[in-house]
Amino acid sequence: MRKLTFILFLFLISSIALFGQQFNDFFYDKACRVDFHLCGNARQTDVYLDKVLQEPFWGGRRHQLTKDLNLGDFRFRILDSTSMKLVYIDGFSTLYHEWQSTPEALKSSKSFEQSIQFPFPKKSVTLVIEKRLNLDNWQELFRYNLTPVDKLIQRKLPQSFPIKNITKTEISEKAIDIAVIAEGYTSKDIKKFYRDAQRLSENLLTHEPFTKYKSLINIYAIAASSVDSGISKPQDGNWKNTAVGSNFFTFYEKRYLTTQNIFKVRDLAALVPYDAIYILANTKTYGGGGIFNFYALTAADNILSNQVTIHEFGHSFAGLADEYFRENADVLDGMYNLKVEPWEPNISTLVQFDKKWKSQLPEGLQIPTPINDENKTKIGVFEGGGYLTKGVFRPYYDCRMHTNKSPEFCLVCKLAVERMILFLTEPTEPKN
Ligand SMILES: [Zn+2]
Repeated sequence: MRKLTFILFLFLISSIALFGQQFNDFFYDKACRVDFHLCGNARQTDVYLDKVLQEPFWGGRRHQLTKDLNLGDFRFRILDSTSMKLVYIDGFSTLYHEWQSTPEALKSSKSFEQSIQFPFPKKSVTLVIEKRLNLDNWQELFRYNLTPVDKLIQRKLPQSFPIKNITKTEISEKAIDIAVIAEGYTSKDIKKFYRDAQRLSENLLTHEPFTKYKSLINIYAIAASSVDSGISKPQDGNWKNTAVGSNFFTFYEKRYLTTQNIFKVRDLAALVPYDAIYILANTKTYGGGGIFNFYALTAADNILSNQVTIHEFGHSFAGLADEYFRENADVLDGMYNLKVEPWEPNISTLVQFDKKWKSQLPEGLQIPTPINDENKTKIGVFEGGGYLTKGVFRPYYDCRMHTNKSPEFCLVCKLAVERMILFLTEPTEPKN
């Protein structure tokens, strides 16, 4: 037994050394950010480069660099330009992709800011940006050779704002770092922002599965100051000058609060090492938004803010889908193609259901699972989700991704969040 323990110990040490070596072989302890524009309409998507930047901190993972969890509407791959071997991969989603399913995208073309971040390479690399076609296939949109010594890579330090460590429990290399950015807070509102960020932090860390891993979560509050206090509400003709220029009424939906100024958001987040971004909006009005591997945004002072905060972080951190739907048409009800299995772990069209929660179901379960008191707390295949009443299924009757009444994530969502926490913090292979 002692010998086996020793062999296991040697294996563990060599695995850690391998992961560490791979990071240091290819990357500096800084971030490379690539800003670009996603342009097109309902039928077409093009990528145009904006700029490349070097940022002072790399807060992301340092292991499993060539693995991903197969999440997001897009992904990017970093290849060593000499060997063309993969050295880094990550998935992401975009507001642009959501817009593509709206009626406006059938009539006109638009451009959206988008930005990705990876560790800063030591050697020339090739960046490949791809769009998801289905669960297993991708279409290449863009290829760019990036030379780290290029003099036009911007190396400016970001504009400074006061920063407070709300919870600092682990060194950032091992932890999940969350950058909480102040939006709609003037310089006079700074104390309120820190209080609001503290509340957000306590709320998140008392919600499972974050509670279980709270010793691995660092939260930084970045007190960016806005000229105006509050948030733009175009539905009322009310526009504000704020740090990241967010607004309600995204895609003409009253409660949908987002920002399209992605480059500004990244400039502020660059003040700390980060895995995830949370934009905290100084308003009482109900609303929010969350985009996978980019940002979550929530109103700080609404009576339902605690619930919405977790819901939006479910989108941005773990790639969870909305499990809700409406009897009347939703602005995003064209998001899911019923002939394709969605990539989000908590909904299914049953096209490739074996890749979802099928193995967890009891034998002989009725599909769709009938809604009755007995089934309301059990795993099943409940019809309705992803903004559609028919053709999209969810694993539980209720969940934090379904309603604000649910006290927590359903089990499938909890496991998806946990998988992401482990992927970002543990040097082991992710299970597919
Ligand atoms: Zn769920």
